[in-house]
Amino acid sequence: MPFDYVIVGAGSAGCVLAARLSEDPRVQVLLLEAGPEDRHPWLHIPIGYGRTFRDPRVSWQFQTEPEAATAGRSLTIPRGRVLGGSSSINGLGFTRGQAADYDSWAQMGNRGWSFAEVLPYFKRMERFEGGADAFRGGDGPMSVSYARDRWELCEVFLKAAGRHGIPTNPDPNGARQDGIAYFQTNTRNGLRHSTSMAYLNPIRARPNLTVETHAEARRLLFEGRRCVGLAYEIQGQPREVRAGRDVILAGGSIGSPQLLELSGVGGGERLKAVGIEVVHDLKGVGENLHDHYLARSVWRVTKKVTFNERLRGFRLVKEVVKFALTRRGLMTICAAQLCAFVRSRPELDLPDLELTFTPWSMQQGQIGRLEHEPGMSIVAFQLRPESRGSIHLKSSDPKAPPAIRPNYLATETDRRVLIDGLRLARRLVASPELDPYRGAQIWPAPHLSSDDELLAHARETGASVGHLAGTCKMGPATDAQAVVGPDLRVHGIAGLRVADASILPTMISGHTNAPVIMIGEKASDLIRDAA
Ligand SMILES: Cc1cc2nc3c(=O)[nH]c(=O)nc-3n(C[C@H](O)[C@H](O)[C@H](O)COP(=O)(O)OP(=O)(O)OC[C@H]3O[C@@H](n4cnc5c(N)ncnc54)[C@H](O)[C@@H]3O)c2cc1C
Repeated sequence: MPFDYVIVGAGSAGCVLAARLSEDPRVQVLLLEAGPEDRHPWLHIPIGYGRTFRDPRVSWQFQTEPEAATAGRSLTIPRGRVLGGSSSINGLGFTRGQAADYDSWAQMGNRGWSFAEVLPYFKRMERFEGGADAFRGGDGPMSVSYARDRWELCEVFLKAAGRHGIPTNPDPNGARQDGIAYFQTNTRNGLRHSTSMAYLNPIRARPNLTVETHAEARRLLFEGRRCVGLAYEIQGQPREVRAGRDVILAGGSIGSPQLLELSGVGGGERLKAVGIEVVHDLKGVGENLHDHYLARSVWRVTKKVTFNERLRGFRLVKEVVKFALTRRGLMTICAAQLCAFVRSRPELDLPDLELTFTPWSMQQGQIGRLEHEPGMSIVAFQLRPESRGSIHLKSSDPKAPPAIRPNYLATETDRRVLIDGLRLARRLVASPELDPYRGAQIWPAPHLSSDDELLAHARETGASVGHLAGTCKMGPATDAQAVVGPDLRVHGIAGLRVADASILPTMISGHTNAPVIMIGEKASDLIRDAA
């Protein structure tokens, strides 16, 4: 069957592209997804991320190379492998970042990507519970909801933050990001609203849209410098498909550079070293990897007001019943309850640090394994990391995972801001508002207080926030690291675009799902306008 567009990966961006491009009944769209349908209930019950993100049936379980930056540890990097991609397994927090993030992209030569120019796409994507205004959308496919419940310890923490000059912000996705708020979430009536549910599900029956699951792209097909289709495998069976107009890579920050390199598009010397014939020498492929790296602080709580004890035994049964009857309660929570966007130094123009607060604590910091005693956690991460790493093939075997080297905390600023975050967490918890609740600090141990000690804690126990980005950097052809231009076409190759988290030239000051959905929305207009 001839297709006009072949989209690789049904994730945050891929589902948006499939839905928007197939709005035109004259074009045929094929969406390929390596993972299965998103049928399992834990993909829809919000708190299910505690299981799904480490379930290999729906999550790629990549590993970083052991690096000194993480005290020689290899970190697990989950990525969605299911319809909806990472939007089906992520922590559900919905944030856009700062206007200045996108303005800086435009400043780097990415015409059309300033905040004023991407805002219409942020608005077009969402159906915000608070309604439409100058910054928010009211009738888009993706439901964005306020937290459905208020929690005693969160309310106390909001007061403590206010004492430290961190005001409660009614909408950090609105005019101003500064301050603290309950996370907004991509949920609808208490259920996860992934891009699969928001964009794909309502239009799945379109006759011009074909969705294939368990279908893994293996290699792009070229005629000269034009991409004309791809080879893929479905349940182990090899197939080929041709694309009349564009192949669009939406495989995410790991999948997209991996497929480009497997197809001979990447740094020439690097490809030759693993036995891959070079189609186009494009050095930036797989470079410019950036991610948010978190450091966690944990305290005991002296009252039974935390999720640790509510999520076990009889109280857990009560929560399940409550969810079944009302779609409220702990089954509907996202991965953290409060988000604070703050400045690590008062002289800064904009927040450079995020703290999240949750009245729970995990065994050895492992998400999904709650401690038995009451506990609370604060996670800190620098919003705009300067450190850059890479993702490259280890071999020409398409089934072999690539080498992921995040190179966290490589710059002085990245280290300093994270240390500042750990100190700010301590100051906030020392507030008198928390006196009736505060137990001993567990992580980092209270005697660890010097820069070196706190940095060692971050290296030994920190983790990826899951925001890997930048490995097919967007930038003008004059930028040696750029892989796609502002029109998302791969430099030097016709008929091939990338539209997913990998195109971020620099990190946005927040979580990445909403920006990637925006990229899917904007890419669909760029592609349609060029047809
Ligand atoms: C555990 C976790 C928690 C997170 N929490 C949050 C959060 O709370 N808030 C937030 O905003 N962001 C969060 N994120 C980040 C956010 O979800 C991602 O940045 C975003 O979903 C990335 O979208 P994408 O389209 O680039 O890739 P993905 O959504 O990962 O989609 C890529 C898709 O392509 C498929 N694929 C890859 N290679 C191939 C191939 N060769 N052939 C066929 N299919 C392929 C994959 O299976 C996947 O379905 C989290 C991420 C993770 C993993």
